[in-house]
Amino acid sequence: MAYARLPLESEVSLRRDSPFSYDCAGCGRCCHDKGIRIGPYEALRLARARGLSTTAFLAQFTEAGGTVLRNRADGTCPFLAGHACEVHADRPLVCRLYPLGRQVDPDGGETFGLLAPQNGSEGRRGEAGTVAEFLHRQGVEPFLAVAARYAALYDRMLDVLSRLEPATPQRLANDRSALDTGELASAWLDIDATVPTDTPQDPPTLVDLHVAALTRWLDEIEAHAT
Ligand code: SF4
Repeated sequence: MAYARLPLESEVSLRRDSPFSYDCAGCGRCCHDKGIRIGPYEALRLARARGLSTTAFLAQFTEAGGTVLRNRADGTCPFLAGHACEVHADRPLVCRLYPLGRQVDPDGGETFGLLAPQNGSEGRRGEAGTVAEFLHRQGVEPFLAVAARYAALYDRMLDVLSRLEPATPQRLANDRSALDTGELASAWLDIDATVPTDTPQDPPTLVDLHVAALTRWLDEIEAHAT
């Protein structure tokens, strides 16, 4: 299965102060036929919502090396129950952003595009508020803050890996594959397999410890790469 990004409906480019609102109709149609991408923090939140370790959660509910939720045979998300999301309080970032898509520029600036309505979704868009108000109601702040930390680590990891061997296009593609779907993905995504179990188990502390562990690991590799 290919996990293409959802198509943008138009070239509309919104910013946080742009007029925007969205009234969810609760039809659940946007939870069909997608490849919901997750990162380490989302895997942790979802695992705890299901009373699982991240190791067990990743094995049971994901594919593509743990980076995508594994849909049921009928194409529905594994957490869709009727028309409702069983993990609503812990749903992933892309679910919170829908029907917006977020792009980050190389200089760190962000814009938001409008995604094409999914599967005849009955939600209604409007201009009764702003993008910022919509994002706040969706609780995206902790997800974006953690995503920025992992993105910086991800870029550093690719840089370190590229210095271990000549950075040919094939080498870079292999590195990305190892991080996205290969053997490195387990350390990257599986927080419980990386962080000692005798530490505080609240998600912010676990993320701090996981980022610190990955950083130490990169420091050690980098010491041998230079
Ligand atoms: S996690 Fe919840 S909101 Fe996201 S696709 Fe699955 S059922 Fe829908």
